[in-house]
Parts: sequence; C-alpha cells; structure tokens
Amino acid sequence: MVASVSSPSKTTQSNIVTSGEKESVKVKIGLETHVQLITNSKLFCSCRNPVTLEKEPEPNTLVCDVCLGMPGTKPRVNEKVIEYAIKVALALNCEVAARTFFSRKTYFYPDMNKNFQITQYEIPIAKGGWVEIEGDDGKRKRIRIRRVHIEEDPAKLVHKEGHTLGDYNRAGVPLLEIVTEPDFSSPKEARAYLQKLVQILEYLGIYDSTTQATVKSDANISIVYNGMQGERVELKNISGTKEIERALSYEVIRQVNVFRRGGAVARETRNWDENAGVSRPMRMKEEEEEYGYIFEPDLPMVEFERKFIEKIKASLPELPDEKRKRFVKQYSLKEKTAESLTSEMEIADLFEKLVSHVSVKNAVAWTLVLLKTLNYHNIKYREAGIKDEWFIELVRAYENKEYSDLVTEEILRRMVEEKQPLEKIVKKYKYPKLGEGVKLEEIVENVIEENRKAVEDYVAGRMEALNFLVGQVMRATKGAADPKKVREVMISKLENQKKENK
Ligand code: ZN
Ligand code: MN
Repeated sequence: MVASVSSPSKTTQSNIVTSGEKESVKVKIGLETHVQLITNSKLFCSCRNPVTLEKEPEPNTLVCDVCLGMPGTKPRVNEKVIEYAIKVALALNCEVAARTFFSRKTYFYPDMNKNFQITQYEIPIAKGGWVEIEGDDGKRKRIRIRRVHIEEDPAKLVHKEGHTLGDYNRAGVPLLEIVTEPDFSSPKEARAYLQKLVQILEYLGIYDSTTQATVKSDANISIVYNGMQGERVELKNISGTKEIERALSYEVIRQVNVFRRGGAVARETRNWDENAGVSRPMRMKEEEEEYGYIFEPDLPMVEFERKFIEKIKASLPELPDEKRKRFVKQYSLKEKTAESLTSEMEIADLFEKLVSHVSVKNAVAWTLVLLKTLNYHNIKYREAGIKDEWFIELVRAYENKEYSDLVTEEILRRMVEEKQPLEKIVKKYKYPKLGEGVKLEEIVENVIEENRKAVEDYVAGRMEALNFLVGQVMRATKGAADPKKVREVMISKLENQKKENK
C-alpha cells in the first residue's frame, strides 16, 4: 500500500504531487440514495412505520401478513407516499410521470421472504431534475437527477453468534430512491449534494434527521489516472451525509493506488465498512436484467391528474435556495449568513419572527449565537425544546439593554441546556440586570487599588493594561456592567490618578 497521500480530499481536484512526480486524477461520482420517509404507516399495509418512534420497537412487533410477505396477501399503496414522492419530484425540478406503476424485483435473500421487492423500474414516478450545490470551484453547480422512485425497505437482518435473525419491523417502510447522474467531481461535492438533499427533504417535512429515519447511499465511482480510464466501482452501504465524503475519499485513494502499482481498476461492487473505515469487495455486480423485473399484478397503474399535481405544487414551502436568496435581498445579508439562517426551516422562521421585534442586526447576531449553541450540543432547533417566545423575549431584553452581551449569551446557553424560559433562568442563577445593584465607581476604585502594577503600566502608556483593568471590573460585576460604561469610568479614574501623580 502506498501511504504517501495524506489528505484524501486533495486528490480529487486534478493533480496529486507525490515524491516529485506529477499525477493527474479525475474523479467521476454518481449517487443512489435511499431515504426512509416519515409517514405514519408503512408503504403497502397499515402497520405503524417504526422510524418515527422514540425508541426502536421490539423485533417483529410492527408486522402483519402483508409486510411479512405471506402468500395470498395483497398490498395497497399508501397515498401519502405518492404525495411525498411528488413533492420531492417537484422540489428537485423533475418531470412527474403522467402515470406510474410498480414492479417486482426478484431476488433470493431472507430480508424479503416473498423473494421480491416491490419497486419501480420501467417508469419511475419522476425523472430529469436537478439540485444546485456549491461546487469545488466555489461556484454554483447543478447536479442532474436521473430518477426518483418509490420502493419498500426490506427487513433488517441481525447477525449474532453464528445465527442470522430477521426483524421485519423495517419490512415495508416507504423508501424513496433518488438517483443522480455522475456529475460529482469530488467526494466533497457528493457530500454537499447529500446535505442539500436532506435539507430540502426536511423543508418538505417528509424526512427528519432527528428521528430514526435513515439516509443511505450507494455510489458509482470511477477515476481517470494519468489518462488511463478505470472501470466503474459501486460502493455500497454508506450511511448519512458525513460518511459519504470519508467513504468516497477512501475509495479514490484506493483506486489511485491500484494504478500506481501498475494495475487497472476492475469493475466490481464493494461494501463500505464504516467501523473499519475501508471498502471491501462484495460480489460481482448483477446486471439489472438479472433481477427479472416483472410488472406487479397486485397493484394498479397510478395516474395523476394535473389538478392533483398542481395542488401539491401549491402546497410546497419556500425551499432553501429561494429562502436564502430572499434573505440576502430582504435583510441585506451576506450569502454565508443567509445560508446559516436558512439551514433549518424552523430557524429561518424563528429569525423572521424575531426580526419583527428587534433590529435586523440583533436578530442576525443572536440567531447565529443560538445556532452555534445548538451545533455545540449537536441538536436541531426543532428538537431543542425551546419556545420561540423565550428566545424572542431574551433578545428583546438584550436590545432594551437589560442584560449585557455576556449575560445574554450565558442565559441563552442555559436556555438550551435546561429548556427553561428567561424568567426561570434569571431567577435560578440570579443574573443581574445591566447596572442593577452595581456600584460601578466603587468596583473600579477597588480594581485600581488591587492592580497597582497594571495602573503603572497604563500611566506609562501601555494600552493593554487598560483592557486588563476593564476585564477585571467585568469579572467583578459578573458581566452585569455595560463594558462601554466600565471603560469610560475606568479611563476617567485613571486620568485623575495621572494628574494627581504629577
Ligand atoms: Zn404490515
Ligand atoms: Mn433501491
């Protein structure tokens, strides 16, 4: 194994420079992503969809004859899933099929004991769309969507002490499979796309990363190394939005190393082992024909009236890109700021509520502090258990100069940690209001008395001594003083001392 390449993401642009020789690497990636939808019931029966439950239910407790695949049972389509799929299709700028039907994908494996998966093959519900991301060159880039189709999730197999156990709770959970064209030129772009995709799905309310619902991707990846074209490798089983970059970066390096050793990358299917951080060969890829797709005779052809689609279109929320652009214009924000404020729909809504109460400047600043605090705890606003009013009340109090920067930030942190309103937190921790009970003059005098060395430094013209002294006062007041005011008082006292000394 050649171990000279340290940073995977650097290999993906075009040139890798190692031991003095120049190599050129071009990367081409396409993604197939499976998203579990957060419907109440499963795709073809009325069993509860387990993905939105707080805890994972006991194995095989959310099952019926249909999702167990008993002979003679008949599936019925959950219309919510059709509606969700069309929402996604429209949000991804796809063309929605006029009519669609389901097919059986035949295979033999115990995760699907009727020996076929109900999916869509010949006519997917939607095709031909695009998603905009920020490309490696920093410019906006369109990633083409090849197709979107509906299918059922198979059961979960648990391998334990030499046995394999089947949990059919997952069997029949509705999935959307979203397939891109091979438009990514780096693992980083693939990650940017997945994050954008998840953001859009969350805006649409059909997927929620704070639940147990998963996003899993398979990637097609090929490279051209010093002009030599490698075969396409399929990399399976990549969970989530962060793992994608790691898995693909590993695979790029692996393929580069095959060429470096004088070999050629062969066409194969590999499995991504998240724990080990490596990809391993799985099996030679079946051709699509080998699945023996046939039309699903138990389900009807679904036809969509224009009116139905128009109605769904009208119900779509403002999507992340539009919202970001509007924020930039309406509130004169920088792109990056608008991007942060629209990262979660609930945060964007909160910001817009807040801005009707306080200045844009304060609304932006404090919403960003809130975001930072949430990120630190690795949670989304919608799961934080904070009420909009609590946050608005706090920022209003700040704007009315009731609390200093320091105290406001600390209250906010407590609010996130303890899920309590302003009043309760202030009471519990006895946060002082700005200027309240603070005998500023007295404190300043004490600080001057106790820090003679710093005062001498100030007199000698060293300005950092002033900052130190102000800091001491802020500390003594536990942040309850207005730093500007402290500075003023401090300077006037010090200047008096200077005069006295003369
Ligand atoms: Zn069922
Ligand atoms: Mn699939």
